[in-house]
Amino acid sequence: METKIFTIDPLNFKPEDLEYAASVINAGGLVGFPTETVYGLGADADNELAVKSIYKAKGRPSDNPLIVHVDDIALCEKYVQKIPRKAEILMGRFWGGPLTIIMKKSKHAKDCVTAGLDTVAVRMPSHPVAHELIKASKTGIVAPSANISGRPSPTVAEHVIKDFNGKIDCIINSGATRYGLESTVIDMSMDVPTVLRPGAVSLEMIREMFPDAVYGGGGTGTPKSPGMKYKHYAPKAKVTVIKGEITKAFEKSAENVAVIDYDYNKDLYKGKIFLPAGCDDSDYGARLFYLLRKADEEGAQVIFAADPKGGSNVTDALRNRLYKSAAGEILVIE
Ligand code: AMP
Ligand code: MG
Repeated sequence: METKIFTIDPLNFKPEDLEYAASVINAGGLVGFPTETVYGLGADADNELAVKSIYKAKGRPSDNPLIVHVDDIALCEKYVQKIPRKAEILMGRFWGGPLTIIMKKSKHAKDCVTAGLDTVAVRMPSHPVAHELIKASKTGIVAPSANISGRPSPTVAEHVIKDFNGKIDCIINSGATRYGLESTVIDMSMDVPTVLRPGAVSLEMIREMFPDAVYGGGGTGTPKSPGMKYKHYAPKAKVTVIKGEITKAFEKSAENVAVIDYDYNKDLYKGKIFLPAGCDDSDYGARLFYLLRKADEEGAQVIFAADPKGGSNVTDALRNRLYKSAAGEILVIE
């Protein structure tokens, strides 16, 4: 299959520029497209065959439900039994943006989208290209991250091309994504607002409106957010998170080491592959997946990654993804 690749400037494009991509969605095809979180692999949420082809293309386990992306509340209402009042308040504050809301599903939300659950996850992206693509397609678009399952999520179109060129119909290149981490997932199908996956909308921000909001899903039994139980974000190199002085960890490794640390520590790592995380955790979050892939490209066998320093809305999300990529491998250096 030939994959058509379009470059679209998110600050300067016309609705017509998305006509082709929308026609692919409407014909049951797959489109790689940018959102403000990461690149998504999009299909028509109402087309069962198209939805199933997403699972197949990604190698995604079929018990891991998808998020329906919408461009307005009316489209959201189609997939949801009734929008709870508290969810409506969250929408008013955080949509479009990196917040996915789980609600009781309507008959219209297909089982292949929700993996048979009685709830559905919905998000309204703020990215102008994503917004326009949904609008032009006139349907909800399911869009998991556009990577082979288990690999770091794509934050630039080149990552999508690497994983899916020749396998999907179309890829839209709009440069780097803003947050670089997947959306916050919050369950509003019960009384207590429960964050199942941290993202750029932090628990603290949600507590400003609902002080009883909690993290959940990490308990025993079936995880409420099925996706959280899978291996995630793994580059080929082995990742270790370092709490403390990274240079002291070098003695423990003779292999080809890449270091992810804040820019101001750069001079400590002469002769090593240095991957700059920026100045703070928002930079680090935006770059994490990019740097994990970069380490592989540079031939690193081991990645030592600085523990996030805190102080940002995205710190919890960054730590969550980083620790998963390290499969819990954390080295504390006193
Ligand atoms: P992804 O599309 O790869 O960013 O993953 C979507 C995340 O939302 C996964 O962790 C899913 O398990 C989670 N999710 C989607 N729908 C539901 C739902 N109805 N209930 C709980 N979690 C969900
Ligand atoms: Mg994903």
